[in-house]
Amino acid sequence: TAHISIREVSKTYPPAKRGGSAVEAVRSVSVDVAKGEILGVVGYSGAGKSTLVRLINALEPVSSGYIEIDGVDITSLKSRQQREMRRGIGMIFQRFNLLRSRTVAGNVSYALEVAGTPKAQRAARVKELLDFVGLGDKADNHPEQLSGGQQQRVGIARALAAEPGILLADEATSALDPETTDEVLSLLQRVNRELGITIVLITHEMEVIAKIADRVVVMERGGIVEAGETYDVFTNP
Ligand code: ADP
Ligand code: ADP
Repeated sequence: TAHISIREVSKTYPPAKRGGSAVEAVRSVSVDVAKGEILGVVGYSGAGKSTLVRLINALEPVSSGYIEIDGVDITSLKSRQQREMRRGIGMIFQRFNLLRSRTVAGNVSYALEVAGTPKAQRAARVKELLDFVGLGDKADNHPEQLSGGQQQRVGIARALAAEPGILLADEATSALDPETTDEVLSLLQRVNRELGITIVLITHEMEVIAKIADRVVVMERGGIVEAGETYDVFTNP
């Protein structure tokens, strides 16, 4: 059964100014993501990938169509229920978005606090999460003392704090060099295989998708132009 089911979803942004034109950022997109799968969404800048992520997260309302997560139509939830639903979804970003003022442990601990983990359990959980991403020895460093790849691993530890069922990765390796990219992709593979977390990976980098996605959809001008098993999409002419 589908973990995430996107059905005929369109999103039109209103004109930015009077006399401007509306932008149809996502056009009639349908795709299912199975539980425990890594789905890659690839496309050039402006293709609608980030918009699709924001729709899955209910950070933007759809213009038409609907999205089900675990069988629940999230587009018709009240905003309070949407916030609750969002807790089950971790996010990582191109620019990591870590808090500069907090240590590595502090960043993860803050996410645990937001997720409602009791104070007495936080330090042990922080340690567990940092060990999982291989940064047990960096707990007391500040993000700026870490490499880009290490910062993204903190981002992943933070995203796992609320024990999400889904991880959305928006250009998560685009700021990293190829070697560091591979490191982060291996970690995402462990997140998927060892924790059973469904991953939607958005990127403009074909190689990233080819490396770890089970299935891929290719977006162009808001629509899906190709979809299938990664192997087929990348080996067929
Ligand atoms: P991608 O992530 O593939 O680069 P986006 O989803 O960011 O694509 O953008 C798709 C289209 O929607 C682009 O034409 C972009 O300019 C437009 N767009 C994105 N966000 C907004 C917004 N908040 N308001 C208006 N237009 C937007
Ligand atoms: P910051 O000032 O960066 O937020 P703190 O030292 O105040 O960092 O720690 C905030 C929380 O982070 C602590 O309450 C604790 O739960 C967790 N924490 C801090 N250092 C560690 C560590 N070395 N190992 C595990 N957890 C830690």
